[in-house]
Amino acid sequence: MALAFDEFGRPFIIIKEQEQKTRLRGVDAQKSNISTGKAVARILCTSLGPKGMDKMLQSPDGDVTSRLRIGDGTTGVVVMAGALLEQAEKLLERGIHPIRIAEGYEMASRIAVDHLECIVQKFEFGVTNIEPLIQMCMTTLSSKIVNRCKRSLAEIAVKPVLAVADLERKDVNLDLFKAEGKLEDVGASLVICQWGFYDEANHLLMHRNLPAVRWVGGVELELIAIATGGRIVPRFQELTPEKLGKAGLVREKSFGTTKDRMIYIEHCANSRAVTIFIHGGNKMMVEETKRSIHDALCVARNLIRNNYIVYDGGSAEISCSIAVEAAADKFPGVEQYAIRAFADALDAIPMALVENSGLQPIETLSAVKSHQIKENNPCRGIDCNNTGTNDTHEQNVFEALIGKQQQVLLATQVVKMILKIDDVISPSEY
Ligand code: ADP
Repeated sequence: MALAFDEFGRPFIIIKEQEQKTRLRGVDAQKSNISTGKAVARILCTSLGPKGMDKMLQSPDGDVTSRLRIGDGTTGVVVMAGALLEQAEKLLERGIHPIRIAEGYEMASRIAVDHLECIVQKFEFGVTNIEPLIQMCMTTLSSKIVNRCKRSLAEIAVKPVLAVADLERKDVNLDLFKAEGKLEDVGASLVICQWGFYDEANHLLMHRNLPAVRWVGGVELELIAIATGGRIVPRFQELTPEKLGKAGLVREKSFGTTKDRMIYIEHCANSRAVTIFIHGGNKMMVEETKRSIHDALCVARNLIRNNYIVYDGGSAEISCSIAVEAAADKFPGVEQYAIRAFADALDAIPMALVENSGLQPIETLSAVKSHQIKENNPCRGIDCNNTGTNDTHEQNVFEALIGKQQQVLLATQVVKMILKIDDVISPSEY
């Protein structure tokens, strides 16, 4: 630390950057990161599943910003990552090197992902049979605040996905979607601009009686260009007839009692771009609905890309846990411990579902596990909604195969990244 004076003779203190920082190395760094990760997982754990609790987030000025309920598999990823970190902590205590743990986890995740492919079912749907897709999206929307309108939201998600999907190539470009909360003698009849117009342009537009829309967002402008087949040009001079987009009707509509207005561009040359307009009582509901529709869109997209599913409600994780545990014996090295730990961590998802549903944790989970082993039936899961059966096939609870595989891989990658950090430099608290 050094004392210095500015040009007016006022004193100030210079603190060397190093002195402001604390540093953790080696196992201490890993343990500190593990406990942070576990803390996040502990918070989200109670929100997993149909009986999970919402979380309220408050901004520094006291505003309720969001009620956290994710629903796209993210909660599951965080819970699984938390369980992997907890297991890693025990292995570190036993003196196993973090890199060996990371390698063991990687091997185990591959066993789990491959095993998922052995327990898949084919999910049949088509352009004339969209009901199964709608049902799948409804399952995703069940855990959301907006679940009262899950049927209509699922339809809102599925129909446009099919409109932009290329079923032959099994591809859906979600960039062609925009979920919107309220928000020239070349022959042009409307000008749309990302910014405002300078005075001369304004004058010319008025003079020619040419309507114009200004301050349109960049993303929206691109979507309009895609939908109408037009080109975005930096200045008027560069307009030519072939760069113009085509739309049958442009109209402005106002909503409810507010002054909010929205411009509709309809009958476009390329109808494979979709805007979903969400109108809600307050910002939180609009944002929550946007997120929910996005999740449903992702579910529908995943199924179009790959129409295999696995039964869920914890049953897929239990089945993977059994498979990974059985495979662990085949590994002679230290990784074997990490592979077993991975199998235990997989149980965290059904365990959270059991706890959140108010069932007896240890008894229920061990009963379901032995049920799966006895019958060799990977569909036995958690009866969260008290339907009277733990058969998730009968309960109609399932998840797209690629979604489930991604969850396992993502949780593993996050934990591997955390385990590989052995030096943490952070600003110290004053
Ligand atoms: P995420 O953000 O991980 O999707 P959710 O809160 O939506 O979190 O919970 C998803 C978990 O809840 C999955 O494991 C899923 O199998 C399970 N789940 C959803 N609905 C049911 C149900 N009706 N019965 C049993 N489990 C269910």
